Amino acid sequence: MTSGAPEKRRLTILGSTGSIGTNTLDVINQLGGRETFEVAALTGNGNIELLAEQARATGAELAVTANEDQYENLKSALSGTGIEVAAGRSGLIEAAERDAGWVMAAIVGTAGLAPTLAAARRGADIALANKECLVSAGDLFVRAVRAGGGKLLPVDSEHNAIYQVLEEHQRHAVERIILTASGGPFRQSTLAEMRDVTAATARAHPNWSMGLKISIDSASMFNKALEMIEAKHLFGMRPDQIEVIVHPQSVIHSMVGYSDGSVLAQLGCPDMRTAIGYALSHPARPALDVQRLDFAKLSRLDFEAPDEERFPALRLARLAMERGGMQGAILNAAKEVALEAFIGGRTGFLQMAVITEAVMEAMIATPAASTMNDVFAVDEEARRLAKVIAERDAAA
Ligand code: NAD
Ligand code: MG
Repeated sequence: MTSGAPEKRRLTILGSTGSIGTNTLDVINQLGGRETFEVAALTGNGNIELLAEQARATGAELAVTANEDQYENLKSALSGTGIEVAAGRSGLIEAAERDAGWVMAAIVGTAGLAPTLAAARRGADIALANKECLVSAGDLFVRAVRAGGGKLLPVDSEHNAIYQVLEEHQRHAVERIILTASGGPFRQSTLAEMRDVTAATARAHPNWSMGLKISIDSASMFNKALEMIEAKHLFGMRPDQIEVIVHPQSVIHSMVGYSDGSVLAQLGCPDMRTAIGYALSHPARPALDVQRLDFAKLSRLDFEAPDEERFPALRLARLAMERGGMQGAILNAAKEVALEAFIGGRTGFLQMAVITEAVMEAMIATPAASTMNDVFAVDEEARRLAKVIAERDAAA
């Protein structure tokens, strides 16, 4: 460097146009924007206008749309800016492989697996929102991060909370982790009422503002199911050490219980920017303009045991963890197909768990993955089977 100015931190956001992606850009702006950070790459999918606007505003080097059909649109939206443009799967990998020390993994679903893995392999610190990486490829993914030498920083609010209160030097004394769940919009609904809900009501989350799919996954508690499996891999827990408690206010973001009876919790207003900022500034704490908790106004925190009859996803997560092998990948892939069928009005809300369980049962003998290709093959097969079952249901 020629001047005495501090070096800027280079970073990439995979999935910059989504809920986590836009919150990440907000945090980056709060922490100095272009004065402090240099954006290597941004990626999106269909929302070309927003992606182009973000690329221009941040001065990104590369902008990528996952959708190949949108390549020309993105190119013309960014013509004359000098920003490079790419598309499709290879474009996503190119973005992930660009030299950047910190990568936010915020693509939704299994589509995020290959690019996130590419960033992990080259040793970037990974801020992980895309929980599906751990659910589908758990051990392989963790091993790839270790081999690359970067940090794995959980962004999911529950896992970020646990990360904050899990004392590394006391790991041997950790007895359990307790994931909190808001209970979603159907916390107090009856099974009969839940049978008839639509995607429009299921997406209305009481506390958090999130993308469409994760909002519906929260309503069915499939999101919590994925998070149980995510926690197992992130923190090396046995299934019996992972508890879920419904906490409707979403103020306690999760807890760790120790061998002396102590429970440490992380609290805050439900705002993903706290978790994102923590992952961005780790091991320091950033100064963020987010709402502060007002305990007097809050006055109470409630807790209740989750009902596995109305929320069978939790039982399926335990099954997947106990069975091990590829059951996490199978659960996730089948769930994604069932979720799309639900969003499209082709299957019922409760049917999502039925379809997922049927695929898990049908593929119970699948051996554990030795390579990522095994994961992709099983993911594909689980999707195929889930589609057959969902279509059969729709026709019935
Ligand atoms: P979102 O739907 O708002 O955004 C998803 C992003 O992925 C967008 O940038 C979109 O363009 C991109 N994308 C969509 N389909 C793609 C594809 N096929 N290929 C490549 N890119 C694609 O989702 P979100 O709510 O921001 O969630 C992102 C991830 O973070 C998910 O894995 C979710 O489970 C996790 N997460 C989200 C929240 C939250 O508050 N939103 C909290 C915890 C964890
Ligand atoms: Mg979460």
